[in-house]
Amino acid sequence: MSEKWGNHKGKIDLVNPSNKRLIDVIVVGTGLAGSSASATLAELGYNVKTFCFQDSPRRAHSIAAQGGINAAKNYQGDGDSVYRLFYDTVKGGDYRSREANVYRLAEVSGNIIDQCVAQGVPFAREYGGLLDNRSFGGVLVSRTFYAAGQTGQQLLLGAYSALSRQIATGKVQMFNRHEMLDVVVVDGKARGIIARNLVTGEIERHSAHAVVLASGGYGNVFFLSTNAMGSNVTAAWKAHKRGAYFANPCYTQIHPTCIPRSGDHQSKLTLMSESLRNDGRIWVPKHIEDVEKIRNGSLKPTEIKEEDRDYYLERRYPAFGNLVPRDVASRAAKERCDAGFGVNKTGEAVYLDFSSAIIRYGKTEARVQGIDVNDMAEVKRLGKEVVKKKYGNLFEMYEKIVDENPYETPMMIYPAVHYTMGGVWVDYNLMTSVNGLYAIGEANFSDHGSNRLGASALMQGLADGYFVLPYTIGDYLADEIRTGKIPIDSPEFDKAENDVKERINKFMNNKGSKPVDYFHKRLGKIMWDEVGMSRNEQGLKKAIAEIRSLREEFWKDVFVPGDANGMNQELEKAGRVADFLELGELFAIDALTRNESCGGHFREEYQTPEGEALRDDENFAFVSAWEYKGENAEPFLHKEELKFEAVELKTRSYK
Ligand SMILES: Cc1cc2nc3c(=O)[nH]c(=O)nc-3n(C[C@H](O)[C@H](O)[C@H](O)COP(=O)(O)OP(=O)(O)OC[C@H]3O[C@@H](n4cnc5c(N)ncnc54)[C@H](O)[C@@H]3O)c2cc1C
Repeated sequence: MSEKWGNHKGKIDLVNPSNKRLIDVIVVGTGLAGSSASATLAELGYNVKTFCFQDSPRRAHSIAAQGGINAAKNYQGDGDSVYRLFYDTVKGGDYRSREANVYRLAEVSGNIIDQCVAQGVPFAREYGGLLDNRSFGGVLVSRTFYAAGQTGQQLLLGAYSALSRQIATGKVQMFNRHEMLDVVVVDGKARGIIARNLVTGEIERHSAHAVVLASGGYGNVFFLSTNAMGSNVTAAWKAHKRGAYFANPCYTQIHPTCIPRSGDHQSKLTLMSESLRNDGRIWVPKHIEDVEKIRNGSLKPTEIKEEDRDYYLERRYPAFGNLVPRDVASRAAKERCDAGFGVNKTGEAVYLDFSSAIIRYGKTEARVQGIDVNDMAEVKRLGKEVVKKKYGNLFEMYEKIVDENPYETPMMIYPAVHYTMGGVWVDYNLMTSVNGLYAIGEANFSDHGSNRLGASALMQGLADGYFVLPYTIGDYLADEIRTGKIPIDSPEFDKAENDVKERINKFMNNKGSKPVDYFHKRLGKIMWDEVGMSRNEQGLKKAIAEIRSLREEFWKDVFVPGDANGMNQELEKAGRVADFLELGELFAIDALTRNESCGGHFREEYQTPEGEALRDDENFAFVSAWEYKGENAEPFLHKEELKFEAVELKTRSYK
């Protein structure tokens, strides 16, 4: 296993530097995956055309990432290694990922940190100047590099700088405010895309020798999620409809620490980074009477004594405590809230409490500064300072949204949709089932199996973009050096453009009565109720039927105002929701087909007596790769068998 990537790289076909100038590559997306890939491909000499729907590449959703990025550097000397990062990731994904990909990810993780430091990314440093690390869920070491609570932003600024350099040299042609609406496949090879200029409304044809999708995840199929409002599945879904298999659509990550929903008119959920679980302790009251008093306002959480609190993660999982993986922590919160212990008015919230960390850090600081450790006012002041340095911007964000001071009273949190492990199926070279069409970052089904460990999405996006795709794409492009420019006047381009135009006309002429969000919210509710944190056969069948009829209703009654020849955000949304309405069905079908529980996919019928996920390795140790078979046809399931050579298949335990 440890030699596979090295050997593979050594044998891959290469394109010589002067021939790279003859080759065009389209990259859709400018998040960490897309920016790093575009910059690196251009640096290598390819002609790159990069697309994003935002007004600037640096506004891609990656900018929202808060907590950090993993790498097996073992700077802390706490026993980390490439193997351990690999092992943690395979185990964290509940043994549903491809071993070789995960090993490669762990292997290149260290290079990512070196690359980003060289670019000037301001990672947090310790007193002595060395890079600092913290811990994330599902691991027993500290391997997460971070830049306060804005790691994504800093990493993206690094990748964006690299991209900007290539834009300035002319090697990258940047198309901001352009949305890819179809992939063009000619003779079985991806040869370009159809994009809409979102400012003028013009439909454009762009050709290339290969197309790379770096278009992010599809968590917004749930309407409410922590993803940016614009994140959507359209690029991946269009590729699926042109032949790319869609893998494990039902593997969704529900993140345990988000600010609870406040009402029906909300369009966004806010993440409180997992890094907070390094120091925050999660609890609910032990006694139901206390819960009732909290809800009616007659008792404050700070008035509940230590012995009357249930630190349920520490109780159930003593080895990992508050740092169990996300799927485990989310289900445990749901279990407590379902049992009636939720601490807000809706009954859907648990506490994340920093009071012990404030005292612990305060006492250490007091000792260092020679202050009396029994002076509690001073200890708390010092402790708050330390906590502020580590998580200040997250605390500020919480206070702005909830209007409560988390230094004084515990935060309230509840699980929310956050990340999609499923995505476009790719092989070891990151190529989809369509020749010349690649998928990287969150858009592919990636390396995370059925549950992603914290701080590993940034790692995967940058591994794909900086260190994997730029090598592997050469294997395909080596055969393209004599192809010449790809024409855009072929019948395939004509057809794809007509399909796009027809759909836009349909929206504009539909003259229905309901706005797009009306349908999106209803889809989200079906998804959350029946395909969310826990699923069962009956609910999934109901969801499939409901999504089908909602889709019909959508096409009959959706109303898109304005016109198509200019900026029209309702039109953009309509196209995206139409795709979510198709993906939602496949999502539920996938969940229904997988008769086991694993990671983020929890089927109520398959659980242990303690309520843990019950896998069925004999029958389900495979990647589900779905093939699109046409509008009203059943999708076809290809099974990619998962073989484990370097790790032993075991029941996951964090106890
Ligand atoms: C609030 C939050 C915090 C997070 N914190 C962390 C963290 O601390 N650590 C971690 O590892 N992970 C974190 N994640 C996950 C991580 O941020 C994402 O998985 C990752 O950034 C995705 O990067 P990406 O490059 O694949 O896609 P994105 O950053 O989503 O970029 C997608 C790009 O594709 C473009 N695009 C999409 N569709 C089209 C189209 N049809 N046409 C043209 N362009 C298109 C967009 O314009 C955009 O440029 C967090 C996620 C959230 C929501």
